[in-house]
Amino acid sequence: MIYPIVKYGNPVLETRAAIVADFDTPELQKLLDDMFESMYAAKGVGLAAPQIGISRRIAVIDLSVGEDPAQKIVLINPEIISCEGAQTCEEGCLSVPGFREQVTRPQKVTVRAQNAKGESFEMSGEELLARAFQHETDHLDGMLYLSHVSPLKRDLVRRKVRKLMKSGEWK
Ligand SMILES: [Zn+2]
Repeated sequence: MIYPIVKYGNPVLETRAAIVADFDTPELQKLLDDMFESMYAAKGVGLAAPQIGISRRIAVIDLSVGEDPAQKIVLINPEIISCEGAQTCEEGCLSVPGFREQVTRPQKVTVRAQNAKGESFEMSGEELLARAFQHETDHLDGMLYLSHVSPLKRDLVRRKVRKLMKSGEWK
């Protein structure tokens, strides 16, 4: 099932998501399948559960956007456990469509998370993958990438979004 993507302005995106305690259930597997499907439909490389209105600590990533099953990553209850270096790159978010901003983040990141069975694992990523680990983990803490841009730029985006909301183009 393809869920609509929740947009900036919806409080679920600014709420800390709940820890997942039940693993290896058909319900969790269905949610993960739906998250990948919804992410591919939106042509994204990462999706966090709050972005489909579900406030649970689950994220999916696939830098190949469905081209290579080996690149599918499921992160449940993820935690960033180490960061190295810095990279600055343009970043966007499916929940803030039409906007992209320069964001500086660590170059290399190691995340610890659980898989659908509840098994704990660690994974390191650089560049875009490191960025995705951080971006998606931020979502689960109720943070958007906009909290990493200058207040001036954030206000500009906020004002533009408010205008779009008024004209009914942002729902
Ligand atoms: Zn996002």
